[in-house]
Formats: sequence, structure tokens, C-alpha cells
Amino acid sequence: MNENVIFDRFLDITSKLYAQMCSEDGDASNDHAEVFRLLTELAKTLVNADRASFWKWDKRSHTLWTTAAVGTGRITIPEDTGLVGKALKEKRAIITNDPYNDPNFNSDVDKKTGYVTKSILVMPISNCKGEFIGAYQAINKLDGNGFDLEEDTRRLAAAAFICGITLESETFLDDSMHDKLTELKNRMGFSSDYGKSYSAKVNAGEKVSLFICDIDHFKRVNDTYGHNAGDAVLRHVAGHFRNNIRECDDVYRWGGEEFIVILPDTDINGAAAEAEKLRNLIMNSVCTFEDTDIHVTMSFGVTQLDKALSIEDNIKAADEKLYTAKETGRNRVIV
Ligand code: GH3
Ligand code: MG
Ligand code: MG
Repeated sequence: MNENVIFDRFLDITSKLYAQMCSEDGDASNDHAEVFRLLTELAKTLVNADRASFWKWDKRSHTLWTTAAVGTGRITIPEDTGLVGKALKEKRAIITNDPYNDPNFNSDVDKKTGYVTKSILVMPISNCKGEFIGAYQAINKLDGNGFDLEEDTRRLAAAAFICGITLESETFLDDSMHDKLTELKNRMGFSSDYGKSYSAKVNAGEKVSLFICDIDHFKRVNDTYGHNAGDAVLRHVAGHFRNNIRECDDVYRWGGEEFIVILPDTDINGAAAEAEKLRNLIMNSVCTFEDTDIHVTMSFGVTQLDKALSIEDNIKAADEKLYTAKETGRNRVIV
């Protein structure tokens, strides 16, 4: 492709990127999706490829994923697989102009979609600390005999740089919404989810409930077995919640040894039944820390969200029930 045409397209796409950044939906609530779409468009243009995709490395779940491959929806692969996994592991850009004979090439997408991959370029992307966090993949060079490692990575560099910064800011945002110890979403994650998914439901008069729950006598766990054992109990409880809430529900570490579960399309009786289920599960579970078995119980306060109240006041209502549960003997659900 003519250099002037490429440059012209480059300016078009970067103008759209700038406009996206300045637009009201350029905020965090769309998870940078449009920015990443434009950035893959940019990669395609700069190296004159038929397709491009942008891969994110999710270090929490040890996977690589992309939504940008055509005709497949979101694809998730283990972090150490495929050409993207190889480029990230070896911390260098790689090309292959004969993918079907490359042992690292995964032909599943081609099998699924009927596409024929002839050449691939993968360029790993790092944050400002030099830690690799994702990768660009360009597929099928449209002119010449495939990708040229030196020339095509030089062409991709500007896009890779913007991508690195964008991804890093998205990662910061994501980290700020998760609790490091339990890997559950935290209070900020709750506010974000509530604004995005639940407040409209409540305002529309749909049934949404929540319960707040707290580990009983948790201070004793720390005092008896030490702070690390306390941390292990928190991870144990968080794991039980994560694995046993219903698909539609969400759990958050509200603070210390307190958790919140939000239950859409659920009235107070349904929420109380879920709370009771979890109370029983926790009571009958054992956290083994360094050969010591630790048992804990939890108290629960349940409420159905009242649209006349703010979310803070609705949580306060649940918290009052939790207080009653503590006052009346702990290890119980109060509705
Ligand atoms: P109650 O049944 O009334 O809730 O009693 P409790 O002992 O659970 O409550 P209290 O508020 O007296 O103590 C909570 C303790 O939780 C105190 C705090 O040190 C501990 N804690 C909070 N966050 C963490 C954490 O991340 N790790 C550990 N190990 N302990 C924590
Ligand atoms: Mg407690
Ligand atoms: Mg507490």
C-alpha cells in the first residue's frame, strides 16, 4: 500500500481515538472497548494486514483473551499457549509465514471459521515498567511474502505504545476494584457495578435484594492462630462465596471480615434462603491452615432494596439486621 494512503488512514484512526478520549462515553464504564477496537484497526492499517487482534494477559486467571478476532466472539486461551503465549513468554516479537507448520500455531479458529491463516506477526506489549501485559497479533500480510520482523514491528511501534498505556490504565482501574487478598471485587467494584447494572433495575421497581454478612468472633481467629491464619480464613470464606452464589448474583468484600452479596430478580424471601444456604456452608466447612483446622460461623442481615432509599441507606438497613444477628447470638440470618 502507498505510504501516503497509510499515513492518511493513520491520521483518520488517531483522530477517532482522540475524539473517543474526549467523548463522554470514553470513560471507564465502557472498559476502553472502542479504544481497543480502533487500536486493532490501526495495527491492521500500519502493517497492511487482513486482520488484527489485541490480546490481553489476565494474570489473575492465567489466561490470554481477545474479542477482536473476526467471527468468533471472545476467545480465551491458557497464558502459555499459542504464538501470543510464546511471544509473551520469550518477551520478543515473533513472526511466522508458514503457520500450519509452526507447532505453536493453534488452528482452532481457522477450523471453526474456515479462514486460512498464511502469516502472523505477534508483538508483545508492556506497561511503563517493562512488564508484559498483552500483545498485538496481525494476520495475513496483504502484500509481499508475509511479515518482516524488523520492518513490521517498526511500523507497529506507535500503536503498541498507545496500546500499552491504555491497557495499563485499564488494569489500574480493574485492580482498584478488586481486593488483593481474596480477589473478590471491593467496595469500589460494588459502586461501579451498582451504577452500571443494578440501580436502573431498582428504580424501575424490579426486585433486587442484598445481604451483608460478617465472620463471627474473627478477632479471636487472629488472636489464637495469628494474622496469616486470619488471612487464610478470609480467602477460604471468599472462595466459598465465589463458588456457591448463584450465577446471577455478585459478591464483594465490603471491608475487613464483611462481605456483601447482591441478588437481582430476587425478593427478600429468596435472598434469605440464599443467605441461609451460605451460612450453613460456612458453618460446616473447615479452613485448614498449617495443619490446624479452623471453623468459623457468620451472621447475616438481609434486605430487599427500597427504591425510595439511597443505596447507602439500603445497605444501612441490611447492616442493622446484621447488628441484630450479632446481638441475638450470631451464626444466624436476620430478615
Ligand atoms: P463479631 O462477631 O462481633 O463480628 O466480632 P469480631 O471479632 O469478628 O469483630 P471485630 O470487629 O472485633 O474484629 C474484626 C477483626 O478483623 C479485627 C481485624 O484485625 C480483623 N481483620 C480485618 N481485616 C483483616 C484482614 O485482612 N486480615 C486479618 N487477618 N484480619 C483482619
Ligand atoms: Mg466479625
Ligand atoms: Mg466486622
